[in-house]
Amino acid sequence: MPKVDSAEVALTDLNPDVKIVKYQERVNSENVDRIFGAGWDAIVDGCDNFPTRYLVNDASLFHKIPVIHGSIFRFDGQVTTFMPHVGPCYRCLYPEPPPAHLAPSCAEAGVLGILPGIIGTLQATEAIKLILGQGDPLVGRLLTYDSLKMSFRVLKLRRDKTCPACGENPTITSYIDYEGFCAGVATHG
Ligand SMILES: [Zn+2]
Repeated sequence: MPKVDSAEVALTDLNPDVKIVKYQERVNSENVDRIFGAGWDAIVDGCDNFPTRYLVNDASLFHKIPVIHGSIFRFDGQVTTFMPHVGPCYRCLYPEPPPAHLAPSCAEAGVLGILPGIIGTLQATEAIKLILGQGDPLVGRLLTYDSLKMSFRVLKLRRDKTCPACGENPTITSYIDYEGFCAGVATHG
């Protein structure tokens, strides 16, 4: 069953009043403006690859939509909220993707099965806060979770004035070749 359909079944089961809009397609430079331009308040990013992550970052800046970012790896997870032109963006933190040998996929490195639940629940909490305008979102703060130590930490994040996407003189003013950008770094790394 496609993920969009199983998500619809699960969400409708929890709450039949939720209106669900499904996009059964892989987001890319050609369709991202149509998808992100549909009037969303927030993007919850749980993607599992670097080209999509950079694409989502750039598109969210163009469309001025906050991104609630979550990632998991082995026994660790992290969450932050990228508020366009208010706090740092993904490129402020990671101007380039890591070389491939330093970034094994989840299939290679493995991930503790409970992590998507914990990190996803934290992301959902951030999304609800943003929609309600309540509390302090994780803007400029990275919440990290270490399941082995069973500890949470908060690290401060800063905007980078020289960021190619959201800095003072941005060089990324339209979509780039994300597959090539990520593959190029992997080759040279
Ligand atoms: Zn930035």
